[in-house]
Amino acid sequence: MKELSPLLRSFLFVIAGEIAIEVGIELLNSEEMDITDEGITENIKERIKKIDPEKFFEENGVEVLKLNTVRKTLYKLYSGKLAQFRRIRDKSTGWFIYYWWHEFDLFEEILMEKKRTIEAKLRERLKFEENNYFFVCKNCQDSILKFNFDSAFELNFKCPNCSGPLEAQDNQELIQYLKEKIVLIENIDLSVD
Ligand SMILES: [Zn+2]
Repeated sequence: MKELSPLLRSFLFVIAGEIAIEVGIELLNSEEMDITDEGITENIKERIKKIDPEKFFEENGVEVLKLNTVRKTLYKLYSGKLAQFRRIRDKSTGWFIYYWWHEFDLFEEILMEKKRTIEAKLRERLKFEENNYFFVCKNCQDSILKFNFDSAFELNFKCPNCSGPLEAQDNQELIQYLKEKIVLIENIDLSVD
């Protein structure tokens, strides 16, 4: 059986939990054939029964892995751009049959895109912090109230909560933190192999 890479395993888990790993394994190992959501469900049951019959599929002797759970998981993978399907109408029942396959080749690209998004957000926040400083009340330190210069000016630099003085907050620590995060994320190695 083909194995998922550790990074892909973790990513699948984040998307839809442990069941997503099982679905991922089935998709990876059915590359050469048409497989339906029913087929995937049956394969998982078969495989897990051999390894660990107690695992999350038996509860008081009742099978708890539902076709619907697998379907939902497949749709989550589809939303995450890691799976695709085509559907065909069954002429005898009139229902649709869904055939699924993985798009794990796109995984590295998906990760790169996420990395770029996070990096852009951090840079945006850094720029904001560097261009803005805030006023806070030292008496109400637990308070999440932060005022920019204009709002603090309007309040006469008085805390609306306790009337104490509003003082400029030093955000150098946060700026340093953001810079470190950006360097960290720039240097992350996302190669899948
Ligand atoms: Zn206050």
